[in-house]
Amino acid sequence: VDLAAGLAAGGPVWVDTDVHLAALGEQRWGAARGATRVLYLTVGTGIGGGLCIDGQLPTGAGHPEMGHLRIARPGADDFEGACPFHGACWEGLAASPALTARWGKSPHLLPDEHPAWRLQAQLLAVGIGNLAYAHGPDKVVLGGGICTRRGLRDAVRRELVAFFGDYRPHPAMVGDLEGWLVAPALGPRSGALGALAMAQDLAQA
Ligand SMILES: [Zn+2]
Repeated sequence: VDLAAGLAAGGPVWVDTDVHLAALGEQRWGAARGATRVLYLTVGTGIGGGLCIDGQLPTGAGHPEMGHLRIARPGADDFEGACPFHGACWEGLAASPALTARWGKSPHLLPDEHPAWRLQAQLLAVGIGNLAYAHGPDKVVLGGGICTRRGLRDAVRRELVAFFGDYRPHPAMVGDLEGWLVAPALGPRSGALGALAMAQDLAQA
């Protein structure tokens, strides 16, 4: 792509984060199609989060940094965390480098039955539960390399059921939350397709 030539030709320019555009892409064409409040989260080398409300992304300078939330951890846990800024913030506890630091090997080398995954589900559920209480999403799209682990999304849903108890902030949060917390449908193309959706919107504006 000849970006300089495109910019020189004029027209509107929108710059946004990969996770915001992924939220828009999933809302337009993916797993959150038709949802009015979409929370998109990706868990990999970090934790990134984006919100898409009524098909729109938040405007203005700055962006959310959901991965750096401070969350309560289950039980007695003195792991110092892996975030270079905060130590044991959410991504310092639950992104890939945190698992490597805590368990001494890359998470893809940890077998399904390893206790790391129960803790991982708990840590993800606490963060997602807090974000759900803050934003009331009718769809949460949970992706990223860590979440390709077999059974992890189901385990996160089970932990979320316990986290919410009888107080669920959106009527879409029914039963075991299978229709509320979902995998991305666009795979690694969520962000690029979100950028295309944004370009369409700008062209029509
Ligand atoms: Zn942090």
